[in-house]
Amino acid sequence: MFDPQLRREIAAIVGGRWFLDSPHDLVAYSYDATPLYQAMPDGVAMPDSAEQVAGILRLCQERRVPVVPRGGGSNLSAGTVPVAGGLVLVLTRMNRIREIDSANLTATVEPGVVTADLHAAVEALGLFYPPDPGSMRVSTIGGNVAEGAGGLRGLKYGTTRDYVIGLEAVLPGGERIRTGGKLMKDVAGYDLTRLLVGSEGTLAVITEITVKLLPLPESKRTALALFADLEGAARSVERIIAARIIPATLEFLDNPTARVVEEYARVGLPTDAGAVLLMEQDGPPAVAARDIEAIAAICREEGATQVSVARTEEEGAALLTARRSALAALSRLRPTTILEDVTVPRSQIAAMVRAVAAIAARHGVMICTFGHAGDGNLHPTCLTDARDADEIHRVEQAFDEIFVRAVELGGTITGEHGVGMVKAPYLEWKAGAAGIEVMQGIKRAFDPHSILNPGKIFPGEGRKRVVVQHG
Ligand SMILES: Cc1cc2nc3c(=O)[nH]c(=O)nc-3n(C[C@H](O)[C@H](O)[C@H](O)COP(=O)(O)OP(=O)(O)OC[C@H]3O[C@@H](n4cnc5c(N)ncnc54)[C@H](O)[C@@H]3O)c2cc1C
Repeated sequence: MFDPQLRREIAAIVGGRWFLDSPHDLVAYSYDATPLYQAMPDGVAMPDSAEQVAGILRLCQERRVPVVPRGGGSNLSAGTVPVAGGLVLVLTRMNRIREIDSANLTATVEPGVVTADLHAAVEALGLFYPPDPGSMRVSTIGGNVAEGAGGLRGLKYGTTRDYVIGLEAVLPGGERIRTGGKLMKDVAGYDLTRLLVGSEGTLAVITEITVKLLPLPESKRTALALFADLEGAARSVERIIAARIIPATLEFLDNPTARVVEEYARVGLPTDAGAVLLMEQDGPPAVAARDIEAIAAICREEGATQVSVARTEEEGAALLTARRSALAALSRLRPTTILEDVTVPRSQIAAMVRAVAAIAARHGVMICTFGHAGDGNLHPTCLTDARDADEIHRVEQAFDEIFVRAVELGGTITGEHGVGMVKAPYLEWKAGAAGIEVMQGIKRAFDPHSILNPGKIFPGEGRKRVVVQHG
């Protein structure tokens, strides 16, 4: 419970209707898109400006009250679960696109702008903001920045990290800092912009973001290739890149995923293929067409049983929309869907997918795999039931082994979903003890009283995928 004085002061800053603490409001902000994690906050505030954010942070730091920044709540690492209670700071009211600068090719936005809304706004001007997480219709740019989100176009265009060039952020004491700017070059001091990208709400609250834009590609071509087995698909991925073709999208779906996506979206995906590759190339029409034909030829040579090239951009867009619905489609099969996130070097994709299947079979759990094959970023997705304690225990063991295998194959425990609470127990495998110490030093420099998103990134008592309750 907040002390009534603090409650009054925060409500006075945001205006009474933007401070919530009724039991049903607290429950609504006690969880995010991550299954099995939940903890109650003491209050929820929805500021409308950086000044309001600064005022709230100042008060909370004085009282040592935890603050959990939150955008769309779509993260999959329990990053917005208020595990230590305190205030959930919802930034979705700060959703203005402040400027699209066609001369400098930049956009400056508030953190609560929904990713797809930024796409639509810049595309209307013939410009392009490539990062496109599968959640882009609900995620916010602030959440994308704080997670360093990737997406389907990561292979050719990179991830959010590659587009953020300037930030305004509020420190826990209420001071505002500006990093970078509308600048293509800037080496003045440490690169705080990059440091804040992927900081998961643990260092500062981001209140303004400047991203760079590209010219909108003239056209897109999409192709679908079906393989009897995994190997043909994996070899095709390697050969496409070796042929110096960098597709805009190079997605992989295993058989169970393709089957349920087809049942859900009805776009003509085959239900009997061992593996499916979904590929898109963009650019001038002649280049996109040439590349997609070359990609199709490689897939055929590597034993694809069927390769089809979408006849129109609309047909291609429908295939990509179907791929984006993979999680929703899978989630219809069992009560609980746990979507994980590992990345391995591209050459190890087949080994990783095989390892996931073997580990799942050994533990008697159902795990499907799909992901961004071009990035080596796979999403093993477990369909389970949170009410079955024995099964959940086996799921945890299976994921433990999957993360170990990913690191053994030269990979990482998360490619784009962040550490949050879910991966905190595993961070040391990737960063090492000395690496974690440096990160903790950075955390102390930004947030000496540890009020910002406590319990995230750094391993606590090593609790794993459990339902946690506060208060
Ligand atoms: C169906 C589905 C598909 C997805 N596909 C992808 C994908 O393709 N690629 C990918 O990378 N992720 C994906 N995700 C995960 C998720 O959408 C991303 O992590 C996204 O970036 C989260 O944005 P959000 O606005 O929902 O942030 P939230 O979930 O609200 O917050 C995420 C983190 O950012 C912090 N935060 C939020 N706003 C701020 C701010 N203004 N200042 C400081 N910290 C802040 C929070 O404290 C938290 O740690 C997917 C999720 C779902 C449910």
